[in-house]
Amino acid sequence: MTATMKTATSGKTTCPYCGVGCGVTLTLPCSTNEAVPPVSGDEDHPANFGRLCVKGSSLAQTIQSDDRLLTPMVDGHPVAWESAIETVSAKIAQVVKDHGPDAFAFYLSGQILTEDYYVANKLAKGFIGTANVDTNSRLCMASAVVGYKRAFGSDTVPCNYEDLERCDLLIMVGSNAAWTHPILYQRIAAAKQQRPNMKVVVIDPRETATCDIADLHLAIKPGSDAAIFSFLLSDSVQSGILDHDFITNHTNGFDLALAQANESTPSLSFTADFCAVSEQDLTSLACWWRDTAKTITFYSQGVNQSSSGVDKCNAIINCHLATGRIGKEGAGPFSITGQPNAMGGREVGGLANQLAAHMDFATPGALDLVQRFWQAPNMATENGLKAVDLFQAMEEGKVKVVWIMSTNPMVSLPDTDQVRRALEKCELVIVSDCKAHTDTTAMADVLFPATGWSEKDGTVTNSERRISRQRGLLPAAGDAKHDWWAICEVAKSLGFSAAFSYQNVHEIFAEHAALSMFENNGKRDFDIGHFAQITKAEYDSLIPVQWPVPKGRPEGTKRMFEDGRFFTPDGRARFIAITPSLPKNQASQEWPFTLNTGRVRDQWHTMTRTGDAASLAKHTAQPYVEIHPKDAKRLGIEDKALVRLTSPYGEVLLKAKLSRAVAFANVFAPIHWTQQFANASVVSNLIPQVVDPLSGQPESKHAQVQLEAVTDICYGVIVSAAPLVLSDCLYWCQVPSEQGYHYEVVWPNGQTQASLKSIDVEQSQDSAEKAEWLEYSNPLTQQIRLAKLIDQTLTLLVYMHPQPESIMADWLISKLAINTSLSIQDRLAILVGTPANIEDKGEIICSCYQVGSKQIEKAIASGVCSVDALGAKLKCGTNCGSCLPELKRFIPIVTELSA
Ligand code: SF4
Repeated sequence: MTATMKTATSGKTTCPYCGVGCGVTLTLPCSTNEAVPPVSGDEDHPANFGRLCVKGSSLAQTIQSDDRLLTPMVDGHPVAWESAIETVSAKIAQVVKDHGPDAFAFYLSGQILTEDYYVANKLAKGFIGTANVDTNSRLCMASAVVGYKRAFGSDTVPCNYEDLERCDLLIMVGSNAAWTHPILYQRIAAAKQQRPNMKVVVIDPRETATCDIADLHLAIKPGSDAAIFSFLLSDSVQSGILDHDFITNHTNGFDLALAQANESTPSLSFTADFCAVSEQDLTSLACWWRDTAKTITFYSQGVNQSSSGVDKCNAIINCHLATGRIGKEGAGPFSITGQPNAMGGREVGGLANQLAAHMDFATPGALDLVQRFWQAPNMATENGLKAVDLFQAMEEGKVKVVWIMSTNPMVSLPDTDQVRRALEKCELVIVSDCKAHTDTTAMADVLFPATGWSEKDGTVTNSERRISRQRGLLPAAGDAKHDWWAICEVAKSLGFSAAFSYQNVHEIFAEHAALSMFENNGKRDFDIGHFAQITKAEYDSLIPVQWPVPKGRPEGTKRMFEDGRFFTPDGRARFIAITPSLPKNQASQEWPFTLNTGRVRDQWHTMTRTGDAASLAKHTAQPYVEIHPKDAKRLGIEDKALVRLTSPYGEVLLKAKLSRAVAFANVFAPIHWTQQFANASVVSNLIPQVVDPLSGQPESKHAQVQLEAVTDICYGVIVSAAPLVLSDCLYWCQVPSEQGYHYEVVWPNGQTQASLKSIDVEQSQDSAEKAEWLEYSNPLTQQIRLAKLIDQTLTLLVYMHPQPESIMADWLISKLAINTSLSIQDRLAILVGTPANIEDKGEIICSCYQVGSKQIEKAIASGVCSVDALGAKLKCGTNCGSCLPELKRFIPIVTELSA
């Protein structure tokens, strides 16, 4: 029997990207020689019921990476694990002895698993004696955590995904869920299609794909969200929809919060003016709010990433408490986390201002309880440094050893120049990652190779408190090890063997569960005591379950606060008096534009994984800035032209995308591109280190910037069989590709054929001698096109033109390094840039089936007039559905054009 005839086996795991936490079925290879195993949605997983978005569907393309970190490295040299562990533990011991425990810090990630988080937190807070354990989750949802804790006395997400389908009014604030949480968005869209009376309101300064299902879009002034909810609180009194019983029996602080709301947003007209929305639209929202008991407010980073993010969260929660819209089906304030395991990190205490198991340093008796449970010799006694403070302390020389795990702070933290200075100053930078080359691994003294998705083994918790297994279904690549294993080895080397001698990951989970129930007795929300004695077999077959899962309640808990009891000392929820405020750095004459940041549909974070999937790169190939056409015209900026954005903190180069989705004097840029993919497009360079004073979350969605067209330049495309060093380019962006290397470039004016031929710096003398150059130049159009062939095989192609031009790069790449001679027609077509018999698809809209804008327009021009009909004809939108909002927009556009 051949390998392909054997029956494949499959395993269940979870997607490593967003906080929806979809279940994934990974079909395992029958033999080691087989192709990459495919993934599909797990039909039994309650988050997605078999569906995956475009990122999840493309996971198979990211399993085998050419850039895996396969062995430990110290000072750039490969070493054995024992040696790397010894180097790290010796240095930690020395700095702790010489400078105290706070000279050490962990900087973790919502990508690591709960068990990894648990042992890192235990080592730092219980054994080394520092609370310097922070995480990139600080950048994502720290404000939501503090908002919940202020109101409920605990970090408790009250709702679940079914509530989103059952509510009658869904208010989505600061969330482009259609692109950031696509499967959840699709569940909402399907619910609305079934129940057209369900209303959806989007509150966002920008018109996003999520607006596709909105009955109302409030394009507010950036950062003014809290005023909307302050107004709704006041209006709830006037319209008589307060739940007096709930306020009286289950809350404190209503009068003060209401007085503050009345003072802050005294009228409809004041609020509309403050938020820059029409009174009519605000009235519509208020009417729906009045009339709809089953209301969910769904909020994400547009709310959290703000200098007043916590207040915004509490402004939202106040409205739900006042109307009793919490703890009931289809009602509640629902914070959606960005990362797959931000929630798991919160559960173990993986933030510098948490202790463990949803206990804080300030929780009465908590320090003693945790110390006794861990038998910890060196308990930290107070909060550690939050992310931005941590990197500032590093630059000041106070933090001397940092262990960064599964995250890329050189790209994701604000003011990346400061982060670089901090890491340069730090005496030992340890980075655990599955990738060899990131902007952060470039700063490391010690690199630990970590297992990646499909190899890692443990649990994650999604946005609805659902714990699922992420299973290690494939063997670790090279010498890669689990993060928990590396932490425990360092702990043992530091002399803490007894507390870190876990034989298997399920033992860590069981200990975490035991701590959650230790002397709990219903006092703390997080209790998964049912799992305190879990066996390996039970752990391996764990099915997704929503916490709390206390002893005797194995089915878990769908919805919180149904009994109106909260986790404050008196059991009552707290109203918080809020004064809405705007972002710290407002636009000015010198910095006339307000920058908003966010995500694109097909990329995740800093592209360390999605950047490996060529199909995902085609939807948005280059970093861009959305500019309103009127602003662009005033500044002489053409669509697709290179633009320089400058802020008081740095500058970046991005391609212009003219769009009416942004308001005048506002621009938007996605955050994904790193220096691995583009030389000058790290958007965090522009962001100030302004944080919320309570949560420490940076105001990453807001910066003041200048814009200018970059002039005296020419544009180009390079495809090459080998990687290139493009030091002469002003701007380059590497677009992931199935074969060869594709670069979009911009040069300073004055390039000649001779200078362009010297791009291929890696060529050997031999190959230079054998090279045959096909050349075309037109002095009138200032176009130059060069093709280099060696032994009649195309190895390099360089196009230069004065204006941005669309080139069929995919077709050109397909001609690279093919071991057959190029035909005369192909040679001509290569220089022309357009093959005679191949259709230009245009920009890719459907990544699953690689359907482009020109194909869609052509189909519509031929009479196709609905998204379903487009799917039937071209298949677009029929797999993951992530492109459906964009497909819908084509229908009226083309109809209008042809009218
Ligand atoms: S919505 Fe997409 S990215 Fe998020 S967990 Fe599901 S498949 Fe992964």
